Amino acid sequence: MTKLLVLDPGHGGRDPGAVGAHLRESDVNLRVSLLLRDALDRSGVRVLMTRETDVLPLKSGTVGEDLAYRARIANNAGADLYVSWHYDSSDNPSTDGVSVWVHPSQKGKRTEQWAKAISASIATAASQKDRGVNFGDFQVLRDTAMDAVLIEGGFISCREEEGRMADGAFLLQQAEGAAAALCGILGAAYVPPSSGAPTCDKQVAEDVIALYSQLAKRATPAMVVAANFAANAVRRAAGIPITTDLGKPSAEAAGRMEAIAQAVWWTASPEAQECHHIAADSLRACRA
Ligand SMILES: [Zn+2]
Repeated sequence: MTKLLVLDPGHGGRDPGAVGAHLRESDVNLRVSLLLRDALDRSGVRVLMTRETDVLPLKSGTVGEDLAYRARIANNAGADLYVSWHYDSSDNPSTDGVSVWVHPSQKGKRTEQWAKAISASIATAASQKDRGVNFGDFQVLRDTAMDAVLIEGGFISCREEEGRMADGAFLLQQAEGAAAALCGILGAAYVPPSSGAPTCDKQVAEDVIALYSQLAKRATPAMVVAANFAANAVRRAAGIPITTDLGKPSAEAAGRMEAIAQAVWWTASPEAQECHHIAADSLRACRA
């Protein structure tokens, strides 16, 4: 049985978390977590997200009740590992770097060793300072019944590090660094993004994505899901962070969207054709 990881992008909705000069922690948490989910998916790890959009997972209630709810998602699912992703804030604007927090009860246990490995792997992949392991009695660490870690991926209060957080390439490095360590922990073989995966040019990909969203503008809800799915396949191939994931389209909508991608293929440049190919392939896989 493959291992199940519950991935928890911190905060969301009316709780932005730490706020920098330009970015909200909740948004960056989500962007990096979606990239991490993709990397784990690719490596054969089952992932359950506590949220995939800009919401608090618990629709109504206090933030404290929401935290308890996030832990309950993992407990009810019988997860093997719980990973919460956050960014930190400090009064000292020069404080930067990545750290991983575990519950104080885990001192000297395997979770501490795992946290150390995750922090080091992210720091190396994204060229950050490795602040190592910290201990905190956070609710999501306390309430979860399985091994649980909370990643603080950097300091949004540090101008330079906040600037890097706005860059999709940096978040991708962090996500892949975390994925490599998490695969090691869960006994899965980490599959790096470049291994055989088709890639497309970022600017061309943006144009293709814009075309899909134009097509989806007055479409039926089912086709909006299919267009979003196709656009996300292109985003993945081009290393563009996914901000909205509407999930898998119906077989019928996937078939229609695939026909659209093939139709526009004929008029596209060779670079754009590559993007349409990737979209069509992902839609075909959906219909299978
Ligand atoms: Zn936070």
